[in-house]
Amino acid sequence: MSAPTFDLLWLQAAGCGGCSMSLLNADTPDFDARLATAGIRMLWHPTLSLESGADVLALVDEILGGQRRLDALVVEGALLRGPQGSGRFQLWAGTGRPLAEWVQRLAGVAHHVVAVGSCAAFGGMSATGANATDACGLQYDDERPGGLLGAGFVAGGGLPVVNVAGCPTHPDWVLDTLAALAAGEIARASLDPLARPRHYADHLVHHGCKRNEYYEYKASAEKPGDLGCLMEHMGCKGTQAHADCNTRLWNGEGSCTRGGYACISCTEPGFQNPGHPFHRTPKIAGIPIGLPTDMPKAWFVALASLSKSATPRRVKHNATADHLVEPPVVRRTRLK
Ligand code: SF4
Ligand code: SF4
Repeated sequence: MSAPTFDLLWLQAAGCGGCSMSLLNADTPDFDARLATAGIRMLWHPTLSLESGADVLALVDEILGGQRRLDALVVEGALLRGPQGSGRFQLWAGTGRPLAEWVQRLAGVAHHVVAVGSCAAFGGMSATGANATDACGLQYDDERPGGLLGAGFVAGGGLPVVNVAGCPTHPDWVLDTLAALAAGEIARASLDPLARPRHYADHLVHHGCKRNEYYEYKASAEKPGDLGCLMEHMGCKGTQAHADCNTRLWNGEGSCTRGGYACISCTEPGFQNPGHPFHRTPKIAGIPIGLPTDMPKAWFVALASLSKSATPRRVKHNATADHLVEPPVVRRTRLK
C-alpha cells in the first residue's frame, strides 16, 4: 500500500499571480517529481491544473463534506472584504459567492493553512494606499493580528496560518515549507513572531550581500548602477528585512541587491506603503531613519563616522562607479 500523500488545494485570491510564476522557477528539472518526492499531491491549482468549473466545485464539495482530507489550504493573494464587509469585490467564478467566504469554510476543515506571498500573509500590495477593496491577509492586516480568519485562528494541525511572506516568494521558501509540513516538521517554534518559517525568516537580506565591504566603510552608491552600498542613499532595507535572499539566491545566482536594486523588505508587513519613494533613503539630519536591526542608533552613528573616515581609497572610488575602477593592491601575502 502506498504512503498517504500530503494533499493540498491552492487558491488564488487578489494578487498578481507572481508567487505562482516564481514557484515555476524552482531549481529542479522536474517540478512534479519534486512535489512527489516530498509526498505532496496538488489536488488543484488554478493555473497549473487542467480541471476547472464543475470538477473543482465537486472537489471542494468533497472536502467540505468530509469525504476528502485537506492537508493544506494554500492561499496566494489578499482577501477582499469589501464592499462593506460583503466580500463581493471578488466572487469565486461560477459560484456567485465571495472567494473570502470559500477560504473561511475551507480553512475550517484544513489541517494546515498556508499564506503564500505578502498579500496572503499581510495584505501586501493589494492593500496598498487607501485600500478601497478592504484587502487583508489571512490572519493579519499588515502587522496587526486579525485579517480574514481572525487573530485566534488555529488550523486543525494546531498551527496558526503559516506566513510564507515575500513579494514574490522564493520558490524554495514555499517548497521547503510545504515539504516540512508534509513531514510533520513544523511546530510553533519553527515560526517567527509573524508566523514566518524560520528557515528563511531568521536571516537578514544583508547577510551575504556582495556590497558588504562598501557597507562596512559606508561607501555608498549615489545613482543606479553604482557598486556601493545601497543603504545610505538608495533605499536599501537589507539590514532590516528578514529573508535569506543573499545566501539562498534566486535562480541560483541573483538577488535584488546583486541586480542593482535596493531591498524594499518585501517580506515585512506594510512594506508596500513605506512613506517614501522605494529608491530613496529617508533621513533626518542626514542620518537614515531605518537603522540596522539590533543596533542602537548612537552606536550606528559613531561607527558610521569612524568607518567613513577610514574608507580605503579603492572602496571609495569603486562605490560610485558602475564597474571596478580600482582593483585591490597586490601585496606579498606570505604568512609571517
Ligand atoms: S546594499 Fe543593502 S543588503 Fe547590501 S550591504 Fe548595503 S545595506 Fe546591506
Ligand atoms: S532582497 Fe528584499 S525586496 Fe528583494 S526579494 Fe529579498 S526581501 Fe524582497
